Amino acid sequence: DAFLSNIEAANAQLNAYVAVTADKARNMAKASDETLAKGVGGALEGIPLGIKDLFATNGVHTQACSHILDGFKPAYESTVTTNLWADGAVMLGKLNMDEFAMGSSNETSYYGDVINPWRKQGSNQDLVPGGSSGGSATAVAARLCMGATATDTGGSIRQPAAFTGTVGIKPTYGRCSRWGIVAFASSLDQAGPIAHTVRDSAILMKSMASVDPKDTTSVDIEVPDYEAAIGKSVKGLKIGIPAEYRLDGMPGEIEELWQKGIDWLKDAGAEIVDISMPHTKYALPAYYIVAPAEASSNLARYDGVRYGLRVPGKDIVEMYENTRAEGFGDEAKRRILIGTYVLSAGYYDAYYLKAQKVRTLIKRDFDLAWANGVDAILTPATPSAAFGVADQDLHADPVKMYLNDIFTVTVNMAGLPGISVPAGLDKDGLPLGLQLIGKPFDESTLFQVGQVIE
Ligand code: GLN
Repeated sequence: DAFLSNIEAANAQLNAYVAVTADKARNMAKASDETLAKGVGGALEGIPLGIKDLFATNGVHTQACSHILDGFKPAYESTVTTNLWADGAVMLGKLNMDEFAMGSSNETSYYGDVINPWRKQGSNQDLVPGGSSGGSATAVAARLCMGATATDTGGSIRQPAAFTGTVGIKPTYGRCSRWGIVAFASSLDQAGPIAHTVRDSAILMKSMASVDPKDTTSVDIEVPDYEAAIGKSVKGLKIGIPAEYRLDGMPGEIEELWQKGIDWLKDAGAEIVDISMPHTKYALPAYYIVAPAEASSNLARYDGVRYGLRVPGKDIVEMYENTRAEGFGDEAKRRILIGTYVLSAGYYDAYYLKAQKVRTLIKRDFDLAWANGVDAILTPATPSAAFGVADQDLHADPVKMYLNDIFTVTVNMAGLPGISVPAGLDKDGLPLGLQLIGKPFDESTLFQVGQVIE
């Protein structure tokens, strides 16, 4: 009831929820009370969560915040949310996001912009919460849920977490099942939690992760007790600092924050080592070939026949055209155009195949660091703090918006786990995050090191 009344009070302004499932929440909470009264219950018994609109929830609004999925209520539940309910969690509703998870500011949603609960000191300007999981990050930061599900294809968990002073982890590719999550770029998409603390993230991550026969890319590997990593000393751990993440023109505040993180870890007994990841500069351009390519293929299924919106035409071809023209927003259309172009017969080798090769080189940079005994890598999470809603500069040039993902996309390209942990405030009092990148399936080390920084 406390969370439902917080939502009631704040959602009109923040626009974090696109559907509130109050009756369902109360029923689930009551069932949890009864379970707990018997002295039993799961790890999340009675914990109220918000669910990103990208996760299929049985009988409940699931539209990836796109117009083209109007009215779609799946008859099935995603594996990740099934796992959460099995552990006793309570669903408060569905959270706003960038359309089909494409964006870095939560301004591409059909349901309107999400507003960051943070403001610059002495300013009334509305700021973006980051994207695409902007609704998840805002709902957690503004106490409209205790934790939220999110997804990350190029930074969509970590960047909004950094912009809202919350913790966001993208686990290793294959750690969570993607079954029942609306697909954006299937070789990059992963689910993970956004939460208040590293410990909360560890508990949620444990529940969300599982191998799943319905997703052949999910991996059959033990899910450790992540919470056990909290409080463990980092003494002797080797933390890599990649020179190539020190960008020209990077704001001094971000540099300083990074240095503070290095000092904290050093003080806690970690060994800091300089490393080189020479292919870092190609990650962003390669990502913006691979992700749209896969997106253009995944979005082909929205044709006005199978799901959601249908806009009639004089024949079936015109019906497809009308539906897709009206149903997709500008960013989704931009991705479809780029994606079909780079996959087309004449350009496949020059763009898509080349980007896949670059992807292998990026992964090799990381492999080399691990082979040299590095346990985790520390970088900034984002090149800036949250920016203003409707920033003219960023909207006039989509590539500038894409630059937000500069520190996060490498992690998806290499399939690795990455966590963003709140690490301080900028000169205007806005939160900033640091990112830790881990070895495949070694999320535990990220929780262990992350709690030193938070
Ligand atoms: N901002 C990136 C993009 O628009 C990442 C999105 C995501 O991680 N879902 O593609």
